[in-house]
Amino acid sequence: MKKNKIFVMGSYVTDLTARASHLPKPGETVFGQSFRTGAGGKGSNQAVAAARLGAEVTLVTKLGDDAFGKLALEHFTKEQIDTSQIAIDKEMPTGSALIAVDDQSENMIVVTAGACGKIKREEIEQAEEKLADVAIALTQLETNLDAVERTLELAEKHHIPVILNPAPYQAIPNEWLKKAAYITPNETEAAQLTGIRLETEEDARLAAEKLYQMGVANVVITLGKKGCFLYNEEYKGKVFPGLIMDAVDTTGAGDAFNGGLAYALANEVELIEALQFANIVGALAVTKEGTAQAMPTLAEVETCLK
Ligand code: ATP
Repeated sequence: MKKNKIFVMGSYVTDLTARASHLPKPGETVFGQSFRTGAGGKGSNQAVAAARLGAEVTLVTKLGDDAFGKLALEHFTKEQIDTSQIAIDKEMPTGSALIAVDDQSENMIVVTAGACGKIKREEIEQAEEKLADVAIALTQLETNLDAVERTLELAEKHHIPVILNPAPYQAIPNEWLKKAAYITPNETEAAQLTGIRLETEEDARLAAEKLYQMGVANVVITLGKKGCFLYNEEYKGKVFPGLIMDAVDTTGAGDAFNGGLAYALANEVELIEALQFANIVGALAVTKEGTAQAMPTLAEVETCLK
């Protein structure tokens, strides 16, 4: 019954991306060369990654009662994500990311969480029945933290394993780590969580060991093109190398990896194979421009598994 079902609680923001020859200095106005709107936010991107692979995904987020919120709902429907638990805030706008990119691919970003920074604990509680009926839950730190806390509490109540992607980093109470079955920081977030700078494989082992001792059963540090690193009871530190790919745009690799990991675990794939699967999903996502639109399908992943 629960197999293939995933509950995602996280952010949605509209990406508003302008390209210009150079980034404006304070007070300067520059002419842009192109402008694009896109669906973004870690919660939304991870939900899309899992849904593209074929998972039944329920997304809990919050949108504004505005044009961007309507576009978001259309996007989720197109991606076959269950929108029944998405709240609409009458006061707050839909979250947004104002992104400027120059000819050297340098960027400046202002993210405003908007409605998805105001998700109420009761709104998570309203989705409790859905949460109780999934194989795995997935959440990040891009919404208000009390929504993350309520998700962790309710998942624990129903014995649903949670993947906590601690991105972007925010300080969180240690006991939250005990409630997560998996934690998936990248190298920067692992350093922020542990105070250990990650430069070598030994640094990754020390950071992962520290998180394991803080109470997370399975610590998975993503290492960019190097793949990922696992520390748990069985593997006291092991690298799972990534696929070698010509990267076109690495944004969203972490989201693809988390969506891929959730999909594999929700389909009862053993952790070791699930990590290899997630590495492929992450690697395929960097071969295309953009974030949500770069998420691969199951058929594309299976071509790499052969
Ligand atoms: P981002 O912030 O760019 O979305 P991240 O910093 O959260 O990504 P990374 O550790 O860079 O996460 O990447 C996540 C996963 O994606 C890696 O563990 C790996 O499996 C895959 N990956 C990332 N970059 C590459 C690459 N250049 N080539 C192949 N695989 C990659």
